[in-house]
Amino acid sequence: MERRASHPSSPKWPGGDARRFIALELPSPLPPAYNPSFLDLALTEGSVKRIKAIYPGSFDPPTNGHLDLIERGSKIFDELVVAILRNPEKNPLFSVADRRKMLEAMTSGFDNVSVDTFDGLTVDYALRVEARAILRGIRAISDYEYELQMALMNRKLQPGLETVFMMPAEKYSYLSSRLVREVAQLGGSIECLVPDLVEQKLREKIDVAHKFANRQPSAGKSKLKKKKL
Ligand code: ADP
Repeated sequence: MERRASHPSSPKWPGGDARRFIALELPSPLPPAYNPSFLDLALTEGSVKRIKAIYPGSFDPPTNGHLDLIERGSKIFDELVVAILRNPEKNPLFSVADRRKMLEAMTSGFDNVSVDTFDGLTVDYALRVEARAILRGIRAISDYEYELQMALMNRKLQPGLETVFMMPAEKYSYLSSRLVREVAQLGGSIECLVPDLVEQKLREKIDVAHKFANRQPSAGKSKLKKKKL
């Protein structure tokens, strides 16, 4: 304690140069355990808090915009959990299990990213998995109002949890799961908008839906014919 008082200009934790702060606190002469490599280790492994964040969303389907955000998030958080909301009211195109498989395949190259599912309040889930931040994407001003409302409500529910907004690369700023679904359903190209695996799954899903839709009228016709006869 006295040591610190004799260095009035020493930076206060956590601001300033942490390495200098620790060096000032060390007894002198340094015992063998306190060598520079030990300090490096302590700073990177022991004394620095690991920050875990969740990236919640519907991901129906996951797009290259989501992937862009996951990559950015994985660089600033120690751990990132992509959390798929189980919301039966939304009537999704893909089941939660399908979305999970796609996201797992898309994120397999990131050591610090995992995929999970949840229901209920996002803040409750964040607390359960001991996350300290919620990652959300902002593409345009149109996202801002809704995201701001959600972030403020989440802060009211759980003041200790921060929402962090990130912007995707410009080329993904117009991209949404809804647009991808619509373009794919109308036969447009979704190349470059979603990973190959997702494109393939979308095509399969839409082919099945078309086959089913084409079968319906003919079934109806045959019923009509039978009635006429
Ligand atoms: P939700 O139903 O929660 O909006 P989404 O899967 O549509 O679920 O989006 C999850 C999060 O990802 C949201 O924060 C959304 O703004 C963000 N997001 C979606 N598409 C993109 C994109 N193209 N670029 C960046 N962020 C995106």
